[in-house]
Amino acid sequence: MSGFEADPTSQDAVVVGGGFYGTAIAVYLARQRGLKRIVLVEREPALLMRASYNNQARVHNGYHYPRSFTTAYRSRINLPKFVVDWPGAVKRDFTKLYAIARRNSKVTAKQFERFCRDIGADIQPVNTALRGLFEPRLIEDVFLVEEYAFDTTKLASWARRELSESGVQIRYQSRVTAISKGAQSPLQVITETTQGNQEVINCRYVFNCTYSGLNQFKGDFPGVSTGLKQEITEMALMQMPESLDGLGITVMDGPFFSMMPFPARGLHTLSHVRYTPHLHWNDQSDLDPYARLQHYARETRVDRMVRDVGRYIPDVLKAKHVDSLFEVKTVLMKNEGDDGRPILFERHMELPGCYSILGGKIDNIYDVIETLEKENISGIDGQEKSNGGVVNV
Ligand SMILES: Cc1cc2nc3c(=O)[nH]c(=O)nc-3n(C[C@H](O)[C@H](O)[C@H](O)COP(=O)(O)OP(=O)(O)OC[C@H]3O[C@@H](n4cnc5c(N)ncnc54)[C@H](O)[C@@H]3O)c2cc1C
Repeated sequence: MSGFEADPTSQDAVVVGGGFYGTAIAVYLARQRGLKRIVLVEREPALLMRASYNNQARVHNGYHYPRSFTTAYRSRINLPKFVVDWPGAVKRDFTKLYAIARRNSKVTAKQFERFCRDIGADIQPVNTALRGLFEPRLIEDVFLVEEYAFDTTKLASWARRELSESGVQIRYQSRVTAISKGAQSPLQVITETTQGNQEVINCRYVFNCTYSGLNQFKGDFPGVSTGLKQEITEMALMQMPESLDGLGITVMDGPFFSMMPFPARGLHTLSHVRYTPHLHWNDQSDLDPYARLQHYARETRVDRMVRDVGRYIPDVLKAKHVDSLFEVKTVLMKNEGDDGRPILFERHMELPGCYSILGGKIDNIYDVIETLEKENISGIDGQEKSNGGVVNV
């Protein structure tokens, strides 16, 4: 037994963060692990408003990761599952092209083709009309591939419905400020609403799914041991001209760009390796990334993005800038060189029952669930057995 008297007000689990990961994990705990009393705490007024909304909406299929075979390979395994589990949220009715630049590219067209064959990803030559969109002096080759986009508003509807049906309580506009060892239960979480009201929640487990906010808690929370890099990013939202409207295009691999349908707004995102990251720093607990973004002067760099992209794809010069999504992107420091996107999964030995989880990209939810499956998690009267440590799949 846990050594704690059964406390009727105690929760089985508190999930911190109502993004895609927090909501999917809360649903998993309720539906698959039978936890009855779960509270999800989200600082925003609705679910999936932060990184789970402000991203490029790409359901990865491996092509993007020629420098990280593991990430490419895991994407190949996870995409088909994602399409089956969230069919209504996946947009497939567009043509996806990957192009290789002649200069400054870290891969050649031949290497890219070989890599796609190695990971078993479909790659086809393009017709003359599609090839004609690209400036031949700058682009070595163009390929037709299989890659999809997700609609984050549909994922949010799924999350709202599933959480409600599985009885998870949600506290909106409420921020977890501290996580500590408890007196009446293994863990104690302190929350604060935007009006300044505090609540103490006793619980057995805490799942810290706060993405950029992973290290922001006071109390006994030790912080994550994996180094994180924070980046303020801009994705431009564009109305594309007719010639580019039914397309997604990525130019690999180096200081290039991507344009993807953004189904949630019926527009395209435009990102550029040089101009999308505005500012970066190594994460530390006394630097609040959300506050940093809030106070950041969001001066768009869309003109520079379009000017450079227009050299490779002249039709983009006819695109109209509608809006920009600014967000803090959080990546593991150790993957800066290879662009890999493993999950971060930490059991905090100092706070038994407390986990920190960062998915890296949407389809990695399967790697997270697979890791959680190995944990001995049960409701208030059960026992927990786990060995502690860090997992980066
Ligand atoms: C610019 C950019 C482009 C990307 N492109 C892609 C892509 O094309 N494909 C892909 O698969 N992935 C992409 N990603 C990564 C993807 O967005 C993330 O992996 C995913 O959204 C993370 O989900 P999450 O639930 O962990 O984070 P979030 O959605 O950010 O959820 C964390 C939640 O925690 C809440 N929170 C934080 N602190 C607290 C607190 N103290 N108390 C209560 N609540 C709190 C936040 O408000 C937030 O809602 C991209 C990310 C960015 C930023």
